[in-house]
Amino acid sequence: MAWNIRDEKCLRCGACVAVCPKAALDLTEHGIKNDLDKCILCGICEKMCPVGAIKVEKND
Ligand code: SF4
Ligand code: SF4
Repeated sequence: MAWNIRDEKCLRCGACVAVCPKAALDLTEHGIKNDLDKCILCGICEKMCPVGAIKVEKND
């Protein structure tokens, strides 16, 4: 299981930060950071990202 971001694609739009139900994401000067202790790998941020910068892999 993993959460990954491709920083070179990210627009810093903040859409993923706004939709995360666990408030795991932060928009920093270095791009989006995920607090993986909070993230439940729900995949909502992946769906909301307009440029497909986030990939969530879940084993189930
Ligand atoms: S996968 Fe879900 S919990 Fe994890 S950062 Fe994205 S929206 Fe938040
Ligand atoms: S929604 Fe996508 S483009 Fe926007 S800040 Fe998040 S990762 Fe970057």
